[in-house]
Order: sequence, then structure tokens, then C-alpha cells
Amino acid sequence: MPCCDDPLTRLYGRSAFEDTLEKLWKQHGAPGKKRPRCGNRELDLYVFFESVRSFGGIVQVHEKRLMQPIAELLRLSLTATSSGYSLRLIYLKWLQPYEKQLEEAVDQSYDNSSRSETLWPQCVLSLDGKAPRKRSHGSHLAQENLTEAQKAAVLSRLCVNEMEPEEQEEFPLLVETPDLFLDIRNHILRLWYRDVSRRLNCSDVVSTVPKRYHELTKNIFIYLVRQGLINFGCLGEKQFSSLSWQQKPRHVVIVGAGIAGLAAARQLCSVGIRVSIFEARDRLGGRIYTNTSYNNIPVELGAMLITGVEQNPLNILCKQLNLVVELVPEECPLYDVDGCLVPKELDMLAEGIFNDALEETAKMRSRYKDQKHVSLGSVLNKVLEDKMMQWKENSTVNNCSNISALRRLIQWHIANLEYACASDLENVSLFDWDQDDPWALEGGNAIIKGGFSQLVQGLAKGFKKTWHDLENRNQDPCIFLCHEVKAIHWSGKDSTRDEGKPVKRKDSIVVVEVQSSDSTVKEVPCDCVLITVPLRVLQEESICFYPPLPKWKKEAIQCLGFGGLNKVCLVFEHVFWKHSVFGALSDSPNQRGEFYIFWDMTKCSGQSPVLVTMICEPFVGRNELAKDDVCVQRAMNVLERIFPNVPEPKECFVTRWSSDKYTGGAYSFVSKNSTGKTYDIMAESLGDVVYFAGEATSRRYPTTCAGAFLSGLREAGKIMRNLKVDILQAESKHKRRK
Ligand SMILES: Cc1cc2nc3c(=O)[nH]c(=O)nc-3n(C[C@H](O)[C@H](O)[C@H](O)COP(=O)(O)OP(=O)(O)OC[C@H]3O[C@@H](n4cnc5c(N)ncnc54)[C@H](O)[C@@H]3O)c2cc1C
Repeated sequence: MPCCDDPLTRLYGRSAFEDTLEKLWKQHGAPGKKRPRCGNRELDLYVFFESVRSFGGIVQVHEKRLMQPIAELLRLSLTATSSGYSLRLIYLKWLQPYEKQLEEAVDQSYDNSSRSETLWPQCVLSLDGKAPRKRSHGSHLAQENLTEAQKAAVLSRLCVNEMEPEEQEEFPLLVETPDLFLDIRNHILRLWYRDVSRRLNCSDVVSTVPKRYHELTKNIFIYLVRQGLINFGCLGEKQFSSLSWQQKPRHVVIVGAGIAGLAAARQLCSVGIRVSIFEARDRLGGRIYTNTSYNNIPVELGAMLITGVEQNPLNILCKQLNLVVELVPEECPLYDVDGCLVPKELDMLAEGIFNDALEETAKMRSRYKDQKHVSLGSVLNKVLEDKMMQWKENSTVNNCSNISALRRLIQWHIANLEYACASDLENVSLFDWDQDDPWALEGGNAIIKGGFSQLVQGLAKGFKKTWHDLENRNQDPCIFLCHEVKAIHWSGKDSTRDEGKPVKRKDSIVVVEVQSSDSTVKEVPCDCVLITVPLRVLQEESICFYPPLPKWKKEAIQCLGFGGLNKVCLVFEHVFWKHSVFGALSDSPNQRGEFYIFWDMTKCSGQSPVLVTMICEPFVGRNELAKDDVCVQRAMNVLERIFPNVPEPKECFVTRWSSDKYTGGAYSFVSKNSTGKTYDIMAESLGDVVYFAGEATSRRYPTTCAGAFLSGLREAGKIMRNLKVDILQAESKHKRRK
């Protein structure tokens, strides 16, 4: 039984309201198709009617001057009383004469047993009298009174009560009266979240809503599929068969089998597009790499954390694949150079000083706004020095050992920020280093039992993995390992910028040059190509473009930052540490980012104790030049300072992501020469033939696997749209196959 603030209940109420109103207006010769407007805006009469009703009727609204909150629900800005006055006139003329019949019709459509005094607008008003229109840093999921549908929208990283810009672009006619769209959208999302392991079927969804909204529901459903908001991930296809479901067979080449490439490939295959993925390495996953070479123990050499697990789409993949995720505790006790734990008060003091300094640094942005390339490091260091001075002057308990411990703690926090940015803060933009904060995903961080690579394997399920057989392939979707893409011939000119004419379909043939492990080079024609290689690969121009990439694209590629991060992973006989995550201070700022944090990854690896420690910028380069045993010894030195009798590790892994030809570093950051917008430019396609995905194309979720995954879905959606894919035709295929 739908509850009173259920979108479906409202859809039935709205439908009954509209049917009745149309009938009555027709009978009484009222306005027909032309609806009353307030100012320049169309009014959502259902919302208007129900909000007036919930406030006790138009007389009450008038007497108690309640038109303002109603106007807010109608998304009108009422500044002048005249607007309230005109709203009242509209009500009196177009709705009041039919009040009784409308009430009866609407009430009949609601389930009487679930109807309460707090009917429709209350669900919105209960959110503090205001709809949560804007994204905020506050925790949405923590709100107790979120309904199932609202929660589904939040989990999908969408605004509950406001259309997103992309939605407005797709449904411009609903922008002024978005509640109908939002109810349908949130209803569909809710159905998807009820069981993410099953493909949601359009006709099943459509059959749940009133008839007058069938067409709109279908369109919103198609939109949500294309946006990768429903029906994404690992939905059980055992094998994608030879496909030419679409009227015109299409072939898309994807460069790179990291999580971005695989996410896109899966989406495209699921709507009947033939996909070939070329991957230079002999393995899948790129920067996701769970190594199992030692006794089958999973050790994460690349990504290991699902960040913001609740809203993270990778959490859905875990559910679909029945993988266990374990939350990582947030607390991170710190050990000082003498091996003792830093006292809590000192730890908190340092954290407070550091966070205050970051806040102050953000406030100082306006002071530097006329200078272009100011680094976060240059300003933050000055602010931190001032803060330390202030503390020294004001503190009654200050003594030399406290001051030097505080300095070491501050250096630790700098290292931690350099880990997040994968860069020396001297290279990071003062203005935009935290531009993605508003979209930070909610929930803690989690690891995956058995390793991250299981996600990659899950996404690759159903594809043939072949090292050869390029010509003879049976039109099956394939992943070609050990195939390095050398060049891309795209005949079109960029259509979105001033350097060329719009691309016409007939001259948009793309040919991808691929070199296989035996050095033979083959040419693969396709309708379009999706490039998902890491930013550094593009910066080093390892792939040639004919014609060359346009200037704006090259500039974005070159000016966005791409930094380093490495790991030393140690497998031990037994656990000798006490915390899931712990930090180690360093004597010298010249070593602050070397082995400054340790993660217990035993829960990921099963029973075998594994400790993972990090080497961050600016110390990545010198450690990549050192031999494995030197790096391991440096890490062991830090552990031996903290724990007595540290056993010899049974196995060690040292990563060198920056020297890796196919990665060249860890992840992107907003450099002094770039802004958040650079990510958007990175994501722009060239005409409708060359598309870009990957972590460094995600403005909202850069650096992360989630960002990479979502960017793959984003580009798959663009390709579907440009290739005019019939999503519902593909859906009927899935249905028939079941
Ligand atoms: C040490 C480390 C730790 C990290 N920790 C986390 C974490 O805890 N949580 C998190 O969310 N993120 C983490 N990240 C970041 C995360 O791993 C990446 O953001 C994500 O995996 C990027 O995916 P992608 O598909 O964009 O790129 P990639 O995974 O790099 O995939 C690109 C693929 O392109 C291939 N390729 C390159 N050149 C060619 C060519 N010429 N032809 C064909 N193929 C080519 C590559 O081999 C690669 O497989 C970490 C990264 C590193 C390095």
C-alpha cells in the first residue's frame, strides 16, 4: 500500500485531478489547453490545489498570509504581494469553483486508509518547511524521514526535489513544473533499488503508473537507462551473443580495459551494440589490480577503498556480485618517532590547527584572485606557520618537545593531503583543489573481501577474452588483451568548437590502429571510439591522432595534473599491529610522505595478515628508482620503530605506477594551471566519433574508481544517443532471453 508521501500515490492523485479538471473546464467552457500562468511561469495546478488544501483552504491561506510557502512549493519567487494576489486570483477563478469535485476525485484516488491530514505537501514541508533544493555538505542519508523513493534518489546522487541540469536539458517542457517528472523519476529509481540484481523492465514500470503518464514514464525510463542510473552493472548476462539487435549494426572500439572502459562496454553491449575492447596489458583492470601471485592471497596493488560506500555505484556492483564489503574504521591513531602513540589531545590540537589553516586558506582565495597560477602549498604553508606562531604565543603549556611533535603532526597532515591529491601541494591549484567537495559521496570507506579486481572480472563477464583472432571474430563482443592502440584516424572535425565544421555521419568513419604482442599492426574500422587510457598516456602522446587533437583538447590534457602514489604491501605470518589504520610521524619534512600511513588489509585478503603502506608525492620518484628490498627495508624501519620484534615479511610487493608505461602515475589532480572545468573539457567528445572516459574526465568524482566507472556509463549514454540506439528494442531482447 503506497504511503501518503509516496510518489505513486501522488501520480494517481495528479491523474485524477487532471482528468476531473479537464472534464469540468470543458463543461464550463474554461481555458482548454491554455493554462493559467503566474508571471511568466506555468503553474502546477495539482501542487497548487493540494497545498492550498493542506493549509486549510484559500480563505485560511489568505487570512494567514500563507501564499509564500505555497509559492515556494510552486517554485515561484514571490517578492511582491501582487504576485501572491495574482496567485489567489488564479485559484479563485480556475480552481475554487471545482473544489468539491476535485477533492472527491483526488481523495478517491488516494487510498483512504493511508490518507492523513498530512497529505501531499507535508512530505515536502516536513523537511523543515523547505524542500532540499540545493546540494549541501550535510548528510542527506542521515535524515530520518527520507522516504524510500527519496532515498533512492539520494543513493543515485540526485537532488530529491529538484531537476538536475541534465534532466532539465532532456525534458525542457517540465522545467517549470518539475514535480511530475520528479515523482516518476524517483518512483522508477525506487523500483530499481528494490532489487539491483535484476534488470528493471520498462513495460512493468509503465504499468504501475496512471495511463496518462505512460508515455512520459517510458521516456524517463529510457533517459535513466541512458544516464546509467538504472539497469547498470553486472546483471547476469552469461555471454553477450553475436549482436546486431539494432536496425543498423554498430561497432564501437574501446581503448583500455580499466573500470571506465569495462563499464562503458557492458552498457553498450546490453543495448545491442557490438564492442571491441583493446587493452595493452595482459590483464584487465588497469589501476585496479588485486595481485594473487603469492599463495592466492589477494593483495591490492592499486585501488583498495570504495570511497563513500553508500552512494558509491561500486557498492551496487558488490551487491550484484554478492561480494562482502567491510567498512574501514575512521580513526587513525598516530605513532611518533619514538614509537609511542601521540597523546589524543596533541593529536586533536594538530588536526584542529591544520583544518583551521585549510579553512583560512580557502578564505584567502579572493586575495589572490587576480593571480592565475597560485599553489595551495604556497599559501597553506604561510598560514600554517602563522597558526603555529599564534599557538606558541598563546599556549601556556608549550614546551620544546610539544612544539616539535606538533610540527611533525602538521607535516603528517600535509602528507595525507598530498596522498589525496597525488601531488606535492606546490603543484596543486589554490582555487580549485577541492572543487569536487560538494559531490563527496556519503558513507564511510570500505574494502572488498577478496579484492577489487572481482569487480573488474564481474564487469568483463560475458565478453570473450582473446589474444588473437582479430579478423575471424564472430562479431562477438571481445576484449583483446596485449593489444596496444597506437593511432586513431578520425576523419571528422571537432563540431563543438571553432576549429571545424560539424561532423557528418557519412564522413565520421574511424579507424583504430592496434599493435598486438607479436608486433603486427592491424586496422580496425568502427563507428566511434571511446578512449579510457590514463591521463599520462594522453599527455605523453603515446597514441597518435589523425588529424591531431584540436588545440583546446590538447591544452586540457596538458594542463590537468597527474601525480604519483605507490604502495609497499607486506604479507606477514601473524598480526602484530593493533589498529586497522595507523599513521607514523617522520623526523624530517623530507620524508613526510614515505610510509606515513599503514592499512591493515587482512579482511580483504582473508586470513593472511597484510599491511599496506604508502609512498606519496613528492617522494614517489626517488622510491621508484630504488630497488624493492631498499623500499621494503625503509618501510620495515618505520614499523620497527613502533613495534618490538617485527617479524620478517613472508612476501612483499612494491609498486611503480609512475614508471608503468600504461599508467604513468596514480591519478589526476587540479594543477596550478587548471580548474575544475578542465575535467569537463577532458570529457568533451570530438564530434560524435571520439569519446573520452576515465577518472581524469570526471569533474565530480575525479581520482576514484567510482568516477572512472560513472564516466564510462556517461560516455556509453552519449554514444547510445548519438547512434540513436533503440533502448526498448534491446530490452525486449533481454526479456525474451530470460
Ligand atoms: C596506488 C593507487 C591507489 C589507489 N587507490 C584508490 C582507492 O583506494 N579508491 C579509489 O576509488 N581509487 C583509487 N585509485 C584510483 C583508481 O585506481 C583509478 O581512478 C581508476 O582505477 C581509474 O580507472 P580508469 O578506467 O579510468 O583507468 P585505468 O584503470 O588506468 O584503465 C586504463 C586502461 O588503459 C590501458 N591502456 C593504456 N594505454 C593503452 C593503449 N595505448 N592501448 C590500449 N590500452 C591502453 C591501461 O593498461 C589500463 O588498463 C588508486 C590508484 C592508484 C594507482
